[in-house]
Amino acid sequence: MIPFSWSKRRQALWDGCRFGYYLYYYGGYGGFDPDAPRDVRRIHELKYLMSAHEYGLRLLAEAVRDNFYRPDDAPFRRNLFPALQKRFRREFGRMLAGAWQVDHKIPMLLELRYGECPAREMRDQLEDELRRACARLECELVPALENVGRERRRPFSVPLPVQINDLTCYIAPWVMLSDGGTLCIIDAAGDDTTLLLHRYYALNEWRIPPDRVRSLQILPASGELREVGDELNIGMTVQRLLHGAQQMRNALRSDGTAHPEDFPRNREHCATCRFRDYCGTK
Ligand code: SF4
Repeated sequence: MIPFSWSKRRQALWDGCRFGYYLYYYGGYGGFDPDAPRDVRRIHELKYLMSAHEYGLRLLAEAVRDNFYRPDDAPFRRNLFPALQKRFRREFGRMLAGAWQVDHKIPMLLELRYGECPAREMRDQLEDELRRACARLECELVPALENVGRERRRPFSVPLPVQINDLTCYIAPWVMLSDGGTLCIIDAAGDDTTLLLHRYYALNEWRIPPDRVRSLQILPASGELREVGDELNIGMTVQRLLHGAQQMRNALRSDGTAHPEDFPRNREHCATCRFRDYCGTK
């Protein structure tokens, strides 16, 4: 039986096309193995594609995280872009060389895979967006993190598991730091479920009550860092999250297995779906 956990991505896939949800979480299971059945391998390959937007956010988050949680002997970087650019060019080169076809966890862009944009144009455009995003982060976020001492930095694994009763949920904050008795969590997401999970994490891991948690949302498009969560209704948000998770669990058979015929297709989402290549031939 494939373990069940909740994440924003999972909920979004479920709310979009149930068949896409099935493919993502069940259809490609085991497809990391080069000897897996052809269809399983193909679904697995498509599952790991990232949109250019997702990929850019991931690079930015990791650049900020690596800088913040740097080793003691590493200097703080006020300019994020040079190291990020080096990584981007290396990874983009590997995308073009097709490394992702062998190891699906090697980054590959959806837009490149589907040939929506010429490679050189995409590389230049993405690199330019990353340069501008770094410059914006260097205005507010980077200076705010520069003088945070090691004793105040709170490292964590990514994705970060957060437990609500028997349900494991996943989030991916950028960084965390303590401020007196308060835990401050900086995240690109600012929706209610993410803010709720910030509070559960603080309580489960650090015994910090919800009113001592500050969620700051970083908006890479503008560089703005803004406080969010003042109007969070914890009870209602928990109910909504658990309800969504229960609906997904109900789609499984009594023995816990998933079957494609139980997950209807929603053709409204095909035009931009990662699985359109697979569905188009089935
Ligand atoms: S291609 Fe269309 S039907 Fe197939 S998974 Fe995607 S949205 Fe659903």
